[in-house]
Amino acid sequence: MTAIYASFNANEKLPTIFPLIDTHTHFDAPVFDVDREEQIQKAYQRGVRHLVLVGYLQRHFDRLYATKEFINKQVHAIAGQTFEQKEISLHAHIALGLHPFYIDNHTDEHLENMAQMLNDKRPLAIGEIGFDTFTDEMKQPDMVAKQARFFKAQLDMAVSQQLPVMLHIRKAHAEALALLKAHDYDAHELGGVAHSFSGGEQEAKAFVKLGFKLGVTGQVTNPNAKKLRRAIQAAVDTYGIECLVIETDCPDMTPIMCQVSSGSQSALGQSPDDEWGDAPAHDRNVPANLPYVLGSLSELLAVPTETLAEQFWHNSCNALRTDWRYPVQE
Ligand SMILES: [Zn+2]
Repeated sequence: MTAIYASFNANEKLPTIFPLIDTHTHFDAPVFDVDREEQIQKAYQRGVRHLVLVGYLQRHFDRLYATKEFINKQVHAIAGQTFEQKEISLHAHIALGLHPFYIDNHTDEHLENMAQMLNDKRPLAIGEIGFDTFTDEMKQPDMVAKQARFFKAQLDMAVSQQLPVMLHIRKAHAEALALLKAHDYDAHELGGVAHSFSGGEQEAKAFVKLGFKLGVTGQVTNPNAKKLRRAIQAAVDTYGIECLVIETDCPDMTPIMCQVSSGSQSALGQSPDDEWGDAPAHDRNVPANLPYVLGSLSELLAVPTETLAEQFWHNSCNALRTDWRYPVQE
């Protein structure tokens, strides 16, 4: 059956629009080919001013750059209409990385190719990289060993290139923390995000202590995602709202209020975190849904959206080692 894709539900109250940075997307995925231009406009209208296109397979690296160019072209078209381009642009950025979930696909040649690309077309960050032992197959010692090798090799690249990393850690937080502690990569110096954070309270605090921001997705919009919500609250209680950034991880992690087809609700909180994008088992998430993540965090943490939005902007710049100016409210 054809999926009914998520769009804004007229019955759902949207939070007031603030300038936002979507720190993690797969907006280059083919599932956006049908209406990418429209989605860029919607994202802009919902406040998104920067988004990061995050890599997962070497064969799609060129697609990331093509998508970035496409977005910039659209933005110029919007900009020409009313506002000064500087104020209105939605900027796309790239992270290059070989995702642990697809470890079977990666080869040493891919690593070499990536290293070359980092030199030739310097991205904003390296990612997504890390550990994922979600399935039994991924728990096999040879798989874990290969994941560790690719994780370390990409952390080495981050150190030599002085770039922040986007971590993907699932069901392997202790292993990831141990590897990171033993590695030269210093997130206090280089920044970095523990993307779509899914661990517990202690793990959340451990990643922040290492210097990472916790990336929060639409999962937080689900009141039943109690473990996640407790972990976020615990990290904020200890380290303040400075430790969080927000992301859509689109086309995954659709906020609960944007889900259209029945049955998709069960995906949240125990999400399969499917990164393929062209074969979503649930409603497609879009960058324009990012304000719902902001809104839910505002409720959870009892901090005004306005305060959170501006803080998240600065947190994102800090994590990504950029100095994007916080736009003047339009
Ligand atoms: Zn992702």
